[in-house]
Amino acid sequence: MDNNIARAEIPNHFDLPRRISGLAELVYNLWWAWNPEVQRLFAETDKNLWEQVYHNPVMFLRRVDRAHLNAVISQKHLLTMYDNLIQAFLDYNQSTDTWFTRTYPAQKDQAIAYFSFEYGLHEALPVYAGGLGVLSGDHLKEASDLGLPLVAVGFLYSKGYFSQHITEDGWQEAHDYTIDYNDVPLVPLLDQSGEPFTIKVELPGREVSARVWQVNVGRVKLLLLDSKLPDNAQVDQQLTERLYGSDLELRISQEILLGIGGVKLLHALDIHVTVWHMNEGHSAFLQIERLKNYLENGMTLAEAQEEVKRSSIFTTHTPVPAGNDEFPLWLIDKYFANTWTQIGCTREEFIDFGKTTTGWGGEAFSMPVLAFKLSQRHNAVSELHMQVSRKMWAPLWPGKKIEEIPIGHVTNGVHVGSWLARRMQALYQEHLDPDWLERSDDPAMWERVLSIPDKELWIVRRHLKRKLTSYVGERIRRQWMAGNLASIQVVAGGVLLDPYILTIGFARRFATYKRANLILSDFERLLRLLNTANAPLQIIFAGKAHPADEPGKLLIQELYRAVKNARGGGRLVFLEDYDMNIARYLVQGVDIWLNTPRRPLEASGTSGQKAAMNGVLNFSVLDGWWREGYNGNNGWAIGVDTNVTDPHEQDTQDASDLYNTLENDIIPMYYENRSSENIPTQWIARMKESIRTLTPLFNTRRMLKEYIGDYYLPAMKKK
Ligand SMILES: *Cc1c(COP(=O)(O)O)cnc(C)c1O
Repeated sequence: MDNNIARAEIPNHFDLPRRISGLAELVYNLWWAWNPEVQRLFAETDKNLWEQVYHNPVMFLRRVDRAHLNAVISQKHLLTMYDNLIQAFLDYNQSTDTWFTRTYPAQKDQAIAYFSFEYGLHEALPVYAGGLGVLSGDHLKEASDLGLPLVAVGFLYSKGYFSQHITEDGWQEAHDYTIDYNDVPLVPLLDQSGEPFTIKVELPGREVSARVWQVNVGRVKLLLLDSKLPDNAQVDQQLTERLYGSDLELRISQEILLGIGGVKLLHALDIHVTVWHMNEGHSAFLQIERLKNYLENGMTLAEAQEEVKRSSIFTTHTPVPAGNDEFPLWLIDKYFANTWTQIGCTREEFIDFGKTTTGWGGEAFSMPVLAFKLSQRHNAVSELHMQVSRKMWAPLWPGKKIEEIPIGHVTNGVHVGSWLARRMQALYQEHLDPDWLERSDDPAMWERVLSIPDKELWIVRRHLKRKLTSYVGERIRRQWMAGNLASIQVVAGGVLLDPYILTIGFARRFATYKRANLILSDFERLLRLLNTANAPLQIIFAGKAHPADEPGKLLIQELYRAVKNARGGGRLVFLEDYDMNIARYLVQGVDIWLNTPRRPLEASGTSGQKAAMNGVLNFSVLDGWWREGYNGNNGWAIGVDTNVTDPHEQDTQDASDLYNTLENDIIPMYYENRSSENIPTQWIARMKESIRTLTPLFNTRRMLKEYIGDYYLPAMKKK
């Protein structure tokens, strides 16, 4: 952001040799998060420090010894690497010739505002909790790659999401930390006099201020609100402290700050937004602020509503109640009593914007309902999720048949540059077309995967699995040496992992519907599979439960008991503190990605998509994206393509299907029919089929182009 209202001033924290002073700006753009060569430059400069600072280039430059930097200048290959990176960065950032400007030249000066409660861009900026955040982060990265004129709004959570520790008896402890803003790639937004740029929102009896931090995501700006200001009351400083607190008053205040504050911010910065995208319902109060603005400009409420709807898109992300915020009406009275007169309606009419009768045993105010009612275009995140959402939200369109409910779908995808292992990128660079990354959504281009020699692909896969197992081993060694662990936890943490055997990964939030314990349901059978001589199996689990989710925490405990069981031989492993870093190691390093949600509750899921592009085979319930991706030869399905109504019946059926497929198909395919060079040719054929058929579809390039064509453009054009 740099105009005559505000400027983003990159902090000058570093003392860099002149020759490589370009790093000072480079590290303040998360472009590095999807350009592995930048990360390699830092890793080669000081490998230990790079790991210590958890792959955070800002922290790295603040801590690195001058001697190490001088070494960069004196080593030709590092200096060349630096020069190439700086050039690539400048070319990327300054280019006005992008896919979007070429394809839609008439729309290039418009602005799309994207609102999300969380953004997962990199482990170095922990302002995300899980899948929703990672999806938002990937959305921004792809918007940057395509040259989409998008500006994003969110929160800078000063304490991020908790870090997870598992006690010896398997209980999840949530540990707190505080982000040091000087250590992360945050650029303060300043006003003309050099003071922090702030906006204000009204809460009952007071005003709350928030300052603004800019995160450069390639060409896209993400603006993060931060209420930790001394002028704010203590409770108001907590608004941007943590993700997903359970307190309802805190939550409604947060959502007011995000939605209403976000609109005020974009107006204050004089950004002329033509499309408003609500990623999940948390930000939906933004529509109330927009109504108010239109009324102040002389529109009637009916006209304002039309205008607001016409320009708005709402994406619903989950059928699970915990993901769909509702507030009791007394809270709406408390927080919005002044608002209904401002937008020229009665209390009843106001409540009606969000009224639901399904929650709280009575009437409540639902954020998704508000978002649905005040937007013209809505989508779910997979085809099955669309069917489920249409049924779920049908009461909002009385008289319409289910097929006519205006909820479409854009199946989620993942950002290829962020999730594809560097070695896999190099392999694709060598064997696919030179512009393979640019064309990653082109199925014809991916046909070329078939031309990769089996042996080369297998060598990279083996390398990635070794990298995973040695990372896990080092990590648990460090924890052990720090003295915080019982010895059994060292086994549970993966010290006995074998880099050469069939490895399954299972990492996700520990919500009960994800059924992490399904594979434990016949423990004796599982133990036999783990320990079969010549054909053993190991399974790596990771994931957090929401701190208030007792059943989720009990699930972790049940799993941890199994993991500690000596009869498992250390082949069941639980990795603490799942985050984007662990996710990368897992989706790149395992052989099989397991997913066992209770259908149809997994709206889309994305981790399996990350796995697929890396040559990992999916083994999943036919839910979410996998129901669209599975073709019989590109992985394995669990259960059938129908909704079973009795959950117990579904559990029993799915568990038996899971064991049978593992025993009869997956394990034999991995270990038998090896070539003379000990390469599992059938397995590799399936791997290529998976990469070929899934990668072009389940990436953010395809996803963003669908959002642009079917959602953003129609809203932009009707001016
Ligand atoms: C990709 C990702 C997710 C989402 O994965 P699901 O398949 O939706 O469970 C969650 N957390 C992290 C850290 C991720 O990288």
